[in-house]
Amino acid sequence: MAESRAEGEAKPAAERAGDAAAGGRIAAILFDIDGTLISTGGASTIAWRRAFQEVHGLPVDITQYSATGMTDPEVGRLSFSGALGRQPTKRELARVMGLRLRYMPEEIERSDDYRVMPGVEELLERLIDDGHLLGLTTGNVEAAAHIKLARANLNRFFSFGGYGSDSTERVELTRRALERAHTVSGGAIEAAECIAVGDTPSDVIAAHGAGIRVVGVATGKFGLDELQSAGADFALSTLEEGFPA
Ligand SMILES: [Mg+2]
Repeated sequence: MAESRAEGEAKPAAERAGDAAAGGRIAAILFDIDGTLISTGGASTIAWRRAFQEVHGLPVDITQYSATGMTDPEVGRLSFSGALGRQPTKRELARVMGLRLRYMPEEIERSDDYRVMPGVEELLERLIDDGHLLGLTTGNVEAAAHIKLARANLNRFFSFGGYGSDSTERVELTRRALERAHTVSGGAIEAAECIAVGDTPSDVIAAHGAGIRVVGVATGKFGLDELQSAGADFALSTLEEGFPA
């Protein structure tokens, strides 16, 4: 069968999956969400603003106080202290974060600029066909991650994840994702075979901190040169380009 294939022709999915099974080792591929898989078109920021408005009477713009790639608890805490001039109590922070989740589904549903990044669905289908284990690694708390992916029906690709609800540190939540990949695969995962995919320098730093390689994709706010400067092992303009797996 292999002999009859023309040179350079892709192997059929079943055959590629067979190769992976024969090796007994599986690659886990960890995807960031915002700017990598989708953009909510500002819906997430609007949900935060509504939450702050309801609790504190202030339409707080989180983009003034936090940076792309931060975890949700950090975004909430920094936006609170930046806008209100003091640290939130634990109860205040919990309330703002809870209301933000409450408003997210409707804001994402009504967002005119929500979009899936180029090549995402095709790549995820292919990686699944090839026998890779797909997970999420994101600063979103777990519920926010799934709400964001639901509109595009992308949750179905991901068996596990590391979330902003696991740690406020990106390195640590990436490690948690790898631990879960290990569990889900029945111990078939090794860090050397794993790769993260993200759109920001902080994704690159987090993946390297957790000991895995990283694909930087320039569909968010950072260009190829910035992702390369941050140390990305691969840098792609979009996920339509040759993905290294
Ligand atoms: Mg991102």
